[in-house]
Amino acid sequence: MDRLNSEGIPRDQLGYALRNRKMVMFARQTDTCMLCCRNNVGESGLCSYCYSSLDPPELELAVKWNAGVGP
Ligand SMILES: [Zn+2]
Repeated sequence: MDRLNSEGIPRDQLGYALRNRKMVMFARQTDTCMLCCRNNVGESGLCSYCYSSLDPPELELAVKWNAGVGP
């Protein structure tokens, strides 16, 4: 999948995206949430709204990003 953030990724591909440093970095550089394309994304490349809607295992991956650990 090379479709980066033109319209957000499907929810079921979020686990893949959170393991992909390029995709997270791109979301942060463009300040565009990977899921919904809102602005004000955090360290995980997600906005606070999507971040708060995560469940494990995506949540664990996002928490790692927020802790500065990465994928
Ligand atoms: Zn979002």
